[in-house]
Amino acid sequence: LTLRRKFILALVSMVVFMTIISGSISLLSVDKLLDRSASYIQQGIMKQWNGFLLAYYEEHGSWEGIQEDIMHAMQDPQKREWRIPPENIRVMLLDKNFTVVFSPAAPDLGRNINTFQKSDEMKAKLTPVVVQNKTVGYLWFENMFSSRTDFLSGTLSSSIVKAMIIGLIITFLIALLLGIILSRRLTEPLKKLTEAVTSVGQGNLTTRIEPEGSTDIKSLTEAFNEMTTQLAHTEEVRSKMVADIAHELRTPLTVIAGKLESIQEGVLTATPETILPIQDEVIRMTRLVRDLQDLSLAEAGKLPLDIRQVDLEKLIRQILEHFEIALEEKNITTKVTGDSNHPEGDADRLKQVFVNLIDNAIRHSRVGGEFHIRFKYESRNEVQGVCVSLKDSGEGIPEQDIPHVFDRFYRVDQVRDRASGGTGLGLAIAREFIQAHGGQITVESWTGEGTCFTVWLPLHRTVTQS
Ligand code: ADP
Repeated sequence: LTLRRKFILALVSMVVFMTIISGSISLLSVDKLLDRSASYIQQGIMKQWNGFLLAYYEEHGSWEGIQEDIMHAMQDPQKREWRIPPENIRVMLLDKNFTVVFSPAAPDLGRNINTFQKSDEMKAKLTPVVVQNKTVGYLWFENMFSSRTDFLSGTLSSSIVKAMIIGLIITFLIALLLGIILSRRLTEPLKKLTEAVTSVGQGNLTTRIEPEGSTDIKSLTEAFNEMTTQLAHTEEVRSKMVADIAHELRTPLTVIAGKLESIQEGVLTATPETILPIQDEVIRMTRLVRDLQDLSLAEAGKLPLDIRQVDLEKLIRQILEHFEIALEEKNITTKVTGDSNHPEGDADRLKQVFVNLIDNAIRHSRVGGEFHIRFKYESRNEVQGVCVSLKDSGEGIPEQDIPHVFDRFYRVDQVRDRASGGTGLGLAIAREFIQAHGGQITVESWTGEGTCFTVWLPLHRTVTQS
């Protein structure tokens, strides 16, 4: 059963159920109402008759002349209460010997109760007329209301049932129509969504749906659109990355293949000098593969981190020592200032970050430049942390390139930066590693003057690695 059919079925059965319930309630209450009103009327009439008969007997001492009196009263237009339609009430007065002394039907006069056909039934309905503690007669009263009300309730019930059936048919049709319209409005966006999901499943990542329908469906379609946009972006990043990697590998492979070919053809001899460029390219490729591996681990949030307290200043001074020759070659003066603390982190990963940053700074610095590393405490979002800023006096990064320097394989000067040995992954790795530590890395740059990278690390790690 589809959602749509279920909805229509539920709506129709609810309406039919409600109609039946309300019909049954009105049937029951009509019956009760009729019963009650019949007994009220009977009681009233009985009281009236009884009062009159008592008064009559007390005045006359016998029932003589009662027939004429009542008949007279019944015909008097001023005594309307005596005009009893015989089809509603039948009444007779019997004396204490059970002989009829009053009856609207004259032939019954003088008859004994036993001569009537249903005498037993009649006897049961007799009400004694008591004057001064003596029974002087009996009033027989038969109310035709019960049979009349039966008839009335029968007619009423059948018309209620009729109305109910007509109502049922009309409400059924309305509910059906309403169900079809409402369910279409409800399921149409779902249908579109299903088609869109199928289309995405088949690889069509440009599929988007116009958000429409109820708020819930709208937010679902919006979430879907967001998801497909994200998927398309991820797919674009993935294919760009594959293309970038292929491109990065092509140059070293071409160099290696060319050199090996020359050696094979005897143009070059296999001396350490001729093999050196091959080795350089192999080293570069190995580095590229290692960087890619680290980067993909970090991006997937699966970078294993060996968290301990790290003496940042010591770590950076060691790296500077390592770069001593390069610094001397370019005659760069280094300055380390500020108070360092010992944030928690993975010393090896942090070393890799700062090696990348320092290597970049030296490579892009002009001869005789300055390199200033400064430590300071800084809380961000109420989290205590340390800030390390590395300011060089190099050529700077053009403004339009600043937003992209942390992207994979992004180089400001493609040819020169590749030739200088960079993989184009240094800053991407730095950012991923710092983020894995719950930290932040930012850059400011002034063309022609220099660049300043700032790394902020929380003192205590709260972000747990999955
Ligand atoms: P690479 O390993 O090729 O240097 P990075 O990801 O480390 O790649 O850097 C990306 C680009 O950012 C580089 O191509 C370079 O042009 C620029 N860049 C990085 N650091 C500096 C800096 N200190 N001064 C100027 N340019 C820089």
